[in-house]
Amino acid sequence: MTTKVLSVASEAVPLIKTGGLADVAGALPAAVAPHGVEMTTILPGYPAVMKALSRPRALHTWDNLLGEKARLVGGKIDGHPLLVVDAPAYFQRDGGPYVDSSGRDWADNWRRFAAFGRAAADVASGAVKGRSFDLVHAHDWQAAMTLAYLRFAPPEGGHHVPSVMTIHNMAFQGHYGADLFPALALPSHAFAMDGVEYHGGIGFLKGGLEAASAITTVSPTYAREIRTAEFGMGLEGLIVSRGERVHGIVNGIDTAQWNPETDPALKAKFSVKALAKRDANKRALESEFGLESSDGPLFVVITRLTWQKGIDVLLECIDHLVGIGGRLALLGSGDKAMENAFHTSAMRHPGKVGVRIGYDEALSHQMQAGGDAILVPSRFEPCGLTQLYGLAYGCVPVVARTGGLADTVIDANLAAVMGGVATGVQFDGVHYAALADAISRAVTLYWQRDTWRVIQRAGMKTDFSWSRSGKAYADLYASLIAENP
Ligand code: ADP
Repeated sequence: MTTKVLSVASEAVPLIKTGGLADVAGALPAAVAPHGVEMTTILPGYPAVMKALSRPRALHTWDNLLGEKARLVGGKIDGHPLLVVDAPAYFQRDGGPYVDSSGRDWADNWRRFAAFGRAAADVASGAVKGRSFDLVHAHDWQAAMTLAYLRFAPPEGGHHVPSVMTIHNMAFQGHYGADLFPALALPSHAFAMDGVEYHGGIGFLKGGLEAASAITTVSPTYAREIRTAEFGMGLEGLIVSRGERVHGIVNGIDTAQWNPETDPALKAKFSVKALAKRDANKRALESEFGLESSDGPLFVVITRLTWQKGIDVLLECIDHLVGIGGRLALLGSGDKAMENAFHTSAMRHPGKVGVRIGYDEALSHQMQAGGDAILVPSRFEPCGLTQLYGLAYGCVPVVARTGGLADTVIDANLAAVMGGVATGVQFDGVHYAALADAISRAVTLYWQRDTWRVIQRAGMKTDFSWSRSGKAYADLYASLIAENP
């Protein structure tokens, strides 16, 4: 029998992406399909999403979705069922899904994503004719209100559905002032400690976590870390109180998109058996970033430029990296001061440091294929994808020992190197001495050419496809459905 799951997400590849959430939401339907789960994704109708739909037909209409008209339309995403909340007043705008063209959060994000949650709750509970689901799976704060509406304001004619709430990043919680509560159209008892109330205001993610049948996050280590004040960002008490209902399921990667043997973005395709072909990609990358051509180690960084990613500490380490013969190519965007600081650093180190500010999917593939090592000095990292792509592409990850980075990279300590299982370099604590030391270790290992190749090969052979995690999600769905007959 097929299990029908509605996946509620604010972004999903290939239609709309700002970060790892989109990769995961886009990959999940195919990951769970072999385990008897038919996953329908529901997305907001941003311009890019609406454009991808051919002749959308209204499956349902709302005259008053938190104050605006909306309709539900259907389509496909990578061959899997897609539903879209077409509410032009909320989602037909230039700019990003969450920010305007100048990078500022939309002032009405609370209403946009509450409305999205309201619509998804109606769909999940079967109140929309012709659709019914066995379970609803909400991702991050933008989708979390789905679960609050299902709990506190279930639609007439709907039925109870068990739910999963996934935290992709605890740093984003959707906090708003209590004055907005009346506009959410929830009953007054929802504004309570075990509801959407959070420190006197409203917490979208908090409301979803309280209502969910189970909570998941994207690595076992992060699932443990968010039980502490350092990583729980104020929700650690809630996470601890949900006890065994909290699971860590590590993300996979889309091996159709990220395969060095078939990747059309690469100058030269390569494989674990033909590693030497990577050289052509390294040469291409050097010229793309205006770097000197050399056999020395080339570090790459692909990231949002934010405090989370430890980029300020990386900036401090650039002189050291260059001083010991390394070169650096960075692709990223975000914090304007950090963008400027990297430009300045590139000017100080011509031929050694190259910087590209912006978002460029093809270039990110080329960097994984041509770089020798990828630096991921994150202060916290729920799962992280760039280190996984690095592993798949023979670009050895140098990572902070936190969250999913700790779970997916095996440090090249002596025992691991001797055993042939090392896949990267880990370091403890995101500060100058620790990162500089990790960079030094990577450079030393790099020049031990045979050892380096063993490390590259061990990473490339690791299975980071979705097969294991797809089954883990499907098993979780089945257990929740079984306890909610
Ligand atoms: P997060 O979701 O916190 O940003 P992840 O490592 O989980 O971090 O996922 C980031 C995703 O976004 C990866 O697929 C990465 O390759 C991609 N990415 C980040 N910055 C850029 C950029 N400037 N250009 C292209 N891809 C990027």
